[in-house]
Amino acid sequence: MKSFKVADFNAPLQEIDEPTPQPAGTQVLIKVKAAGVCHSDLHIWEGGYDLGHGRKPLSLKDRGVSLPRTMGHETVGEIIAFGPDVKESDKGGLKTGDVVLAYPWLGCGKCKTCVGGDENMCIVKPNALGVYCDGGYADHMTVPHPKYLLDLKGLDPVTAAPYACSGVTTYSALKKVEFAFDSPIVIFGAGGLGLMALSLLKAMGSR
Ligand SMILES: [Zn+2]
Ligand SMILES: [Zn+2]
Repeated sequence: MKSFKVADFNAPLQEIDEPTPQPAGTQVLIKVKAAGVCHSDLHIWEGGYDLGHGRKPLSLKDRGVSLPRTMGHETVGEIIAFGPDVKESDKGGLKTGDVVLAYPWLGCGKCKTCVGGDENMCIVKPNALGVYCDGGYADHMTVPHPKYLLDLKGLDPVTAAPYACSGVTTYSALKKVEFAFDSPIVIFGAGGLGLMALSLLKAMGSR
């Protein structure tokens, strides 16, 4: 398979050819159909975040991000194969050939936070796809378990890929003000997230 990896922070991505992985355990192998480029990818590539106000930059290396790394946390792909330990009941109706969005915000999967359904908040071992493990800037990608895959049911892969990041980010913010949807809602900024928020706001029935 072909992928584009960060081999060194701040250096051009490297095009790598390597054998396509076979899904092990409960993994699912997908063939990438769309991979969103998020502004966070620039920071991951740079190796950290400027926190502003003269504070020390947040270093991703200190947070356990290792290289080389295939970025890409907004990924839609077609299911190619399930790992040998995937039970029929794990699949949630998914089958080979289905086009799915990969939920990327994975944690250790075992701590209280993860088991409670908030894997994105895991501090024991954050495991986000495209950050802590390889993501969608590749023609194939493995996802640790079918429960992280959502059937697109005909939605356009390119439109849907960013739902994995800017979509959930803005949806979560809008849910907090849903009670006020009969009044005007102000969105600051019309960048990637601002425009996503506007589309979702309409879809959620606000004016
Ligand atoms: Zn993102
Ligand atoms: Zn956890």
